[in-house]
Amino acid sequence: MFSHSRVKIAIIGAGPVGSLCACFMAENGYDVIVYESRTDIRLDKSTSGRSINLALSERGINALQFIGLDNIVIEELTEPMYGRMIHSVDGQKYSIMYDINKSKCLYSVSRKELNAFLLTKLEKYSNVKVNFSYKLIDVDFNSKLLTFQKLLENQQQETVKPDIVIACDGAHSVVRKHMIRLPMFNYSQTYIDHGYFEIKLPSSETKDILTPGHLHIWPRNTFMLIALPNKDKSWTCTLFMPMEKFPLILESEKEDILSFFNEYFKDFMDLIQPEDLLNQVTNGKARTLISTKCNPYHVNDSFLLMGDAAHAIVPFYGQGMNAGFEDCTILNQLLEEYDHDLKTVIKTFTSRRFQDAEAISDLAFYNYIEMRDLVARRSFLWRKKVDNI
Ligand code: FAD
Repeated sequence: MFSHSRVKIAIIGAGPVGSLCACFMAENGYDVIVYESRTDIRLDKSTSGRSINLALSERGINALQFIGLDNIVIEELTEPMYGRMIHSVDGQKYSIMYDINKSKCLYSVSRKELNAFLLTKLEKYSNVKVNFSYKLIDVDFNSKLLTFQKLLENQQQETVKPDIVIACDGAHSVVRKHMIRLPMFNYSQTYIDHGYFEIKLPSSETKDILTPGHLHIWPRNTFMLIALPNKDKSWTCTLFMPMEKFPLILESEKEDILSFFNEYFKDFMDLIQPEDLLNQVTNGKARTLISTKCNPYHVNDSFLLMGDAAHAIVPFYGQGMNAGFEDCTILNQLLEEYDHDLKTVIKTFTSRRFQDAEAISDLAFYNYIEMRDLVARRSFLWRKKVDNI
């Protein structure tokens, strides 16, 4: 472990990427303060919110490995997914394995549980402090001043002056919003036409329909339903479709909602009580999907964007968080490479990361077409025969 205890690092956002990045920086011996606008998610009993579970892949696992957390996360928090199980309209199922030898797989993990696990790990470092309910509202790049609103203390403001700021404050990053005003900072965002709606399937005997070890997909050309397994044997399902179609289906009469699901996802309807589905439809809402790109990821030699703040990508490649975790790996590699010359590390991060992050973002767009449409085509189904050899 290196000793850099006099350098003060502020990390904005204690989502999965901010929490992991804080672990990396703490492990390297820096003094770290994390500022998070929400209250501590470990105290929040609700499961509502975005993307309840995620596919953790090799990129993410490699990053966890750096701080010795890969095995414990896999064992305690995840369910393996060795392939896709395609459900056709006529009720047939086809398995497409990710790796014929089953030596590699994706791991389904609750976003909230993984985030909570990382926060708990983070608090074990003596050189880390986490401030919850601190919302960043202003950034001054020249003076390195950050202003926070303390949401639990009558909205009082506090201004701090760290040496280095790593912004992991998500797709709607406040730090990035301030960067947009700077010359030579390029930024673009795209809300795609499609959105998503989550449906929770309770734990029950679902083996016949939801074969374990798979990510289940009901591809229906312009829309699709997917289901990821949870540790408690429940499933988190997500309906993706054009945003303009959601009100036509989810805000229609009860019978019409049920007949839509019965027509397109018949075997899924064998797993959920109609009243439960209708209840979730009434109380839930369709959410939008945004993709953002920017360049550079840094300002001067002391501000850096990471995770969704740097590159929010659409979820169809299951790589948003994984790519954010990989950002942490790259930051760590640069720290080693430049012997902790932080100024150089921050200025080099963009050129080391940008092309790959952009490629993942583009692949994610492409994979939506593959998941909702191409996997249902004959060339894909033929592969099922190959998989079974
Ligand atoms: P976030 O998770 O957005 O966390 C940002 C944190 O910053 C939050 O805690 C927020 O409260 C805090 N914050 C925001 N503003 C402020 C402020 N002003 N002051 C202080 N704190 C602030 N990724 C995968 O790898 N695999 C998947 O299978 C996958 N599936 C997905 C499915 C869906 C439907 C969606 C929408 C996304 C999916 N993702 C997936 C993407 C993944 O959720 C994100 O990439 C990941 O959450 C990004 O983590 P982050 O920490 O960068 O940002």
